[in-house]
Amino acid sequence: MNIYNMLCGNISFRDLLNYYNANITYINLSRGINGFVFQYENIYNIFINNKLSYKEIKKTILHELAHIELNQLNQIDKDLFAFQIEKYEDEADKYINFIFSTINEQKNNITGGFLNEL
Ligand SMILES: [Zn+2]
Repeated sequence: MNIYNMLCGNISFRDLLNYYNANITYINLSRGINGFVFQYENIYNIFINNKLSYKEIKKTILHELAHIELNQLNQIDKDLFAFQIEKYEDEADKYINFIFSTINEQKNNITGGFLNEL
């Protein structure tokens, strides 16, 4: 049960939120802050800026889910240095990009295999 499974369509977005015990709340945030996530009593609270476009919302939710999946929130507690947080931001984005490229690669392989058989 992970982001990869959801993006492949094997599980639903709701399934993944239930699995991680995550809630999404849309709130009024200033421009430039797309969203954030924190854990409280085993529940992950994801907050999304309600000014974002549909595409930005999806991107931000994936980014926040990556923080959860990479277990970065527990690590940030121990190490609150600004450069560490930036490192986690970068890792979360790279992780999502990696999943997308993996899925695209598999799609190409499937298509390639299909075409080879013709
Ligand atoms: Zn982040």
